[in-house]
Amino acid sequence: MINFEESQRLLSLHVKQGPILELPLLDTLGLALAKPISARADSPRFNSTSVDGYAISLADFANSLPVTLPIVETINAGARSSQSLKSRSAMRILTGAPVPKGADAVVMQEHVTVSGSYVTFTTTPKASANIRYRGAELKRGARLFEPGTIITPSVAQALAACGYAKVRVHKRPTVTIIVTGDELRTPGTGLKSGEIWDSNTTGLNAALSALGITDVRTHHVSDNLRSTTKAVRTALERSDVVIATGGVSVGDRDFVKEAFAANGVRELFWRVSLKPGKPMFFGTKRQLGKRKYVFGLPGNPVSVMVTYQLLVRRALLRMMGQADIDTTSHGILASTLKKSDPRTEFVRAYRDGMANGLPRVVPQTARDSHMTTGMAKADCLIVFPLEQTLLEAGAEVNILPIIWVPY
Ligand code: AMP
Ligand code: MG
Repeated sequence: MINFEESQRLLSLHVKQGPILELPLLDTLGLALAKPISARADSPRFNSTSVDGYAISLADFANSLPVTLPIVETINAGARSSQSLKSRSAMRILTGAPVPKGADAVVMQEHVTVSGSYVTFTTTPKASANIRYRGAELKRGARLFEPGTIITPSVAQALAACGYAKVRVHKRPTVTIIVTGDELRTPGTGLKSGEIWDSNTTGLNAALSALGITDVRTHHVSDNLRSTTKAVRTALERSDVVIATGGVSVGDRDFVKEAFAANGVRELFWRVSLKPGKPMFFGTKRQLGKRKYVFGLPGNPVSVMVTYQLLVRRALLRMMGQADIDTTSHGILASTLKKSDPRTEFVRAYRDGMANGLPRVVPQTARDSHMTTGMAKADCLIVFPLEQTLLEAGAEVNILPIIWVPY
């Protein structure tokens, strides 16, 4: 059995970034840029006005106020930027339109009076007022984003503003989920005695979907070595990542590890000193030149979601090109926690109000790993360290926010 930190280290050591491909911007959310991106043009591309108003030349304000000038032309957004402003005249100009040559400032329309085709100014404008200058934000060729930048909606927007429609990113992995258990039935159907509804299929599919991973297949196999081995073989053929749930412990009808071994999966770890999630397995396989990643998660639904949060999600994000991010933050424990097991426990909790400038963290009372409601109501996991047996109410604790989305 290895400790939790070691499992994370092994994961980071073995999980590599996925292959690079070019995708349309809207298909890249949550992926990381594989290559640096530079500005294709100056930004702004030309001198433009940030307000609706009047373009003027300061030379016309050398004498006493007020100043009245004829409005010789209107420049709309999208107009060619070739016009020049002649001395002793003003041009009507609308937000986003190119500022004519010879103009030093744009005066907001709210600050002038217009009478017929004349505009009157009662104050002297400041030089450069309301002009967005060409290249003020970025010069052509300037580095816009480094490789590894996670594509959020704002990053996608900045790329679009620079004229990019596609970018090179690390491919999202394809996944097969193998759910094991003779007792499992599809939600929505009736149950015979001894049967339960399968919630791991829904939980994992939902988690993958939240991460933007859509090429996902699911197999339900019964508890025998033949079906499990066959399902693992098919999964390895079809997907980059295999996630099995259940059947990975030491029960008589736990065949997942054996099925992995029969398919040549190399074990990197099995059993982590972790609660919930102790029987977790992780391995890899090279198949037809491709790297496959194989997870055997426990069967208990909460263990599935917690090990997904702690380890699987981290691995998937690495494949998507993201660097490991430590999201640990701090909170004040609302009620005392005890444990006797020398494992790192991740206690489902939610944040409620503040205490001493930190979020007050309330542990869920439904702490057992089959109790899905406790996980559903949690927004963070309290880290109850391996060696500790008591965390007292009021103590500052480390917490990991539960995050489903990729950023
Ligand atoms: P196992 O690891 O296969 O021994 O499963 C541990 C516990 O989790 C058992 O009580 C199973 O019935 C339950 N379990 C396993 N898979 C699922 C699932 N897909 N949905 C709900 N409960 C499950
Ligand atoms: Mg089982």
